[in-house]
Amino acid sequence: MPAFDAFGPEKIIRVYDPKSGMKGVIVIDNTRRGVGKGGIRMTGSVSENEVMRLARTMTWKNAMADLPFGGAKAGIFADPKTLTPQKKKQLIEAFGRALKGIAPSLYVAGPDINTTEKEMGQIAIAAGSRKVCTGKPSRMGGIPHELGSTGFGVAHSTMLALNYLGMNPSDARVAIEGYGNVGTFVHQYLSQWGVPVSAVSDSSGVIIDTHGLDYERLMNVKKEFGSVTRYRGKHARKGNNILTAPANVLVTAAIPDLVTMQNVNQVKHKLVVQGSNISMSPGVEHRLHARGTLIIPDFVANAGGVISSYVEHIGGKPPQMFRMVESKIKKNVNLLFKEMDRTHLSPRDAAMRIAMERVKSGKWNGPRN
Ligand code: NAD
Repeated sequence: MPAFDAFGPEKIIRVYDPKSGMKGVIVIDNTRRGVGKGGIRMTGSVSENEVMRLARTMTWKNAMADLPFGGAKAGIFADPKTLTPQKKKQLIEAFGRALKGIAPSLYVAGPDINTTEKEMGQIAIAAGSRKVCTGKPSRMGGIPHELGSTGFGVAHSTMLALNYLGMNPSDARVAIEGYGNVGTFVHQYLSQWGVPVSAVSDSSGVIIDTHGLDYERLMNVKKEFGSVTRYRGKHARKGNNILTAPANVLVTAAIPDLVTMQNVNQVKHKLVVQGSNISMSPGVEHRLHARGTLIIPDFVANAGGVISSYVEHIGGKPPQMFRMVESKIKKNVNLLFKEMDRTHLSPRDAAMRIAMERVKSGKWNGPRN
């Protein structure tokens, strides 16, 4: 039996299409604040239990982002690596048809592992409505991920946290773990706003320049050679561990469990902004917090993506998306600081308290657009 509690899950819907063999599940965790919103994960290992846990995470994330969305998530039980593109499309379309009657009244889908804007387009067509999902191609009214909503929000969270710590932006030295969608936009915005980025990593290594890595140059290097380590500069050098690269701020933007009990003592930064999800366990986070590191939790810092989904859902365009990501991230991060000061809770506990209160009251307290 699933673990039902005071918040949900409200519905667990199993879907099956005998013709294509598509098997999936949609978990609608909590809809007190609005329709359940969360992505579709398609992997060989996804389980009903994993989808339930992710749906609960979305309940808190959407509430903390202050969106009129509840929490939900979906899973398609199939490993795309073992499928031909045609078979994957068949399963996606079967899932899209299964959403009829469920989405968008109870659930609004979106991309997650192994589902991208292409699959969202296929799902919208199969379900017969563009309203069933976000993350669609722009020709279908989607707001592309490539615009960098998440990195923009993470960069704003970083600026607010520097201000909270009383740190002058030009005195910060930021290390960014990961140079993909999130990491590159964090670099772009922080550079624009006068914050030096002293180290960046990707899956092939680390590049360091305490005078600040030039954004345009690094992007060109990454595009041309596929790795940040090919960057050259007067003061630039290669490193092998992003945690020990010279920096007083760390932005995580790649893998889960970057910081563990084994390497937590390498983290000497004053500030850690979690652009990636679950970059450390709650125990590791607690250890860093106890040592005086300010941590901006993932579900607060990286909410730019869900805010962008909301703007797409209400038919908005990119300029409105950027305005809303900025205003909501600023409002919510400042609210988090106020709650931390008031309660002396850790950032994650304070954020969870805000999110839970919002879900309990079910009250919507912001403008819809
Ligand atoms: P991405 O695939 O675009 O980029 C990932 C980057 O991480 C790449 O540069 C890759 O080289 C690098 N990387 C992989 N393994 C690494 C390693 N061991 N060390 C250092 N770098 C490594 O992914 P993304 O969209 O930027 O997402 C990054 C993280 O942020 C993920 O955890 C994702 O779940 C989370 N996130 C993303 C969004 C979004 O809108 N993109 C929203 C919320 C959360």
